[in-house]
Amino acid sequence: MPKELLLQVSPEIAADAVLLQQYLSKQIKVGVSEIQHVSILKRSIDARQKTIKINLKVRIYLQEEVFQEQSISLPDYQNVAHAHEVIVVGAGPAGLFAALQLIELGLKPIVIERGKDVRGRRRDLKAINRDHIVNEDSNYCFGEGGAGTYSDGKLYTRSKKRGDVTRILELLFAFGATPDILVDAHPHIGTNKLPQIIQDIREKIIECGGQVLFETRVTDIVIKNNEVQGVVTQKRDTIAANKIILATGHSARDIFELLDRKKVLIEAKPFALGVRAEHPQSLIDRIQYSCDYRGEHLPPAPYSIVKQVGGRGMYSFCMCPGGVIAPCATSPGEVVTNGWSPSKRDQATANSGIVIELKLEDFAPFAKFGPLAGMEFQKSIEQKAWHLAGQTQRVPAQRMVDFTQNKVSTTIPTTSYVPGTTSVEMGRVFPGFLSQILREGFTEFGKSMKGYLTNEAILHAPESRTSSPVRIPRDGISLEHLQIKGLYPCGEGAGYAGGIISAAIDGEKCALKIAESLQ
Ligand code: FAD
Repeated sequence: MPKELLLQVSPEIAADAVLLQQYLSKQIKVGVSEIQHVSILKRSIDARQKTIKINLKVRIYLQEEVFQEQSISLPDYQNVAHAHEVIVVGAGPAGLFAALQLIELGLKPIVIERGKDVRGRRRDLKAINRDHIVNEDSNYCFGEGGAGTYSDGKLYTRSKKRGDVTRILELLFAFGATPDILVDAHPHIGTNKLPQIIQDIREKIIECGGQVLFETRVTDIVIKNNEVQGVVTQKRDTIAANKIILATGHSARDIFELLDRKKVLIEAKPFALGVRAEHPQSLIDRIQYSCDYRGEHLPPAPYSIVKQVGGRGMYSFCMCPGGVIAPCATSPGEVVTNGWSPSKRDQATANSGIVIELKLEDFAPFAKFGPLAGMEFQKSIEQKAWHLAGQTQRVPAQRMVDFTQNKVSTTIPTTSYVPGTTSVEMGRVFPGFLSQILREGFTEFGKSMKGYLTNEAILHAPESRTSSPVRIPRDGISLEHLQIKGLYPCGEGAGYAGGIISAAIDGEKCALKIAESLQ
């Protein structure tokens, strides 16, 4: 039987198969040549002590033991060209994994996506970055792969209860992600690798007889006697189906407005909002790894921080080591930030959303919008930031210490945010209570992470699309909308996911429920 061991080794040993083999031979007292293969089953970094260690779980195969390379293959997808049709609106992680699951269950997905395929999308990302032009259907949030395509591709969820994370990781691996995602405690894929994986998923859907329609925006849902009958697109086509997975993401404001207009039950939902902070990566490395230089064997350090400030949680969100801040607006007249990293996370800066939990009562000034109050609150801040920064895709920016001291920054260095920044006192972007909590919170952060509170750090505003400002309520068991039969609110936009993995899991869950209901 191959031996399994839990061990702590130096980053140098963890990074070098030969050194690791030598180390293990001493541990288990066998000659190096007697070790046939070492499989790494789990890997995490322990940076709590002065000397950083890598935690490994390994399986050691000696020469006489049978070793077979781990093979994870795709499920046996069948051809569903003539099967029962299910409409999936949105080709984000929720929609794509719903489509794959439908195929596995013998149903035909028709995926309808307002944006372009991954290649076409790139031109529009360039336009928003360089020319400040926002395409309302093709941007960092909309298009093939959804909001996750041009991201850091972090593949972990805060909740462990949300279903089968391993299954999603294995599917991503089978579609081309590196095997590292199966062993790392905090796996990520990176912006440069995600598009190919997404494209391969789409090609599989089509190869199996499913349909994927790009540049096709759903503008109406046909509902009769509280049952769905299909959708209408901006091309004025009607596509019929009695089962619709609605996975349009947290930025599809037109879908929330449509549901509200049609008197389909939706609810305002609290979300979180704040700024995106950017530090030199070397500074974060120094804080997290307690060393002057992280060396060649440690990855750029991430950080995660939470504090209770003024009775609310203030926390880091979607931290991107070695990453870039992206312009994530989905309409002209607004600015929004978020972040991405390449697979190597090798950019010189580290960025993270630093956000504050909002409460439903914060949306009171927008009460007249009913369930859209939170969305209107969010929109108002994004539009204000756009005005204050000069009515382009430049964003308001301020040095961190200046912000805590209410001082407008006299200079803002060039940051990773390509459209550029305008020096603005952040207090003008947010309602007073939010600015106050952010100021106090950064001071608290500086006490926990020595060096974090510095004028080298630049705040960009706003970080406002952390999760959906609306929930589309569904039955806890059937996952159908509470009033509308055949409508399956799904993923982040409906309020049931908060990242790539949880959205993918929710997509699978909705597909399973549809298959069950058709039996
Ligand atoms: P989305 O991904 O938002 O997909 C919804 C899709 O529906 C979109 O493609 C949209 O075009 C389409 N759509 C909308 N309206 C219509 C319509 N009317 N008709 C047709 N199609 C429509 N999460 C992580 O877990 N890790 C990360 O590292 C990470 N980094 C991120 C970085 C950035 C820059 C951004 C923007 C997000 C990041 N996220 C990350 C969040 C993550 O991308 C989302 O949680 C996830 O994509 C949600 O999946 P979804 O399928 O529910 O919705």
